[in-house]
Amino acid sequence: MAKMMFCPNCGQPGKPRRIVPGSVLITLLLLMFWLVPGLIYMIWRHKAAYLVCPSCRARNMVPLDSPNAVQGRGAAGSPGPTSVSG
Ligand SMILES: [Zn+2]
Repeated sequence: MAKMMFCPNCGQPGKPRRIVPGSVLITLLLLMFWLVPGLIYMIWRHKAAYLVCPSCRARNMVPLDSPNAVQGRGAAGSPGPTSVSG
């Protein structure tokens, strides 16, 4: 399970989503026909995986106890959500 992190982009604490690039189908096809490229592709996918904010998909989430998060939460202390037009 992912632990809670803080998003400085939208100011929301939350559990980050893990995004794995590439596709499972390609991995399976490669493994079926060419074992070594398949393994390399599989390793690459997992090395290139990254965490994003569940609400705004920003990639710069920080741990909840990091100085950045504490500062961000302190600054965004005022109530009232920021309105998003659209
Ligand atoms: Zn966010």
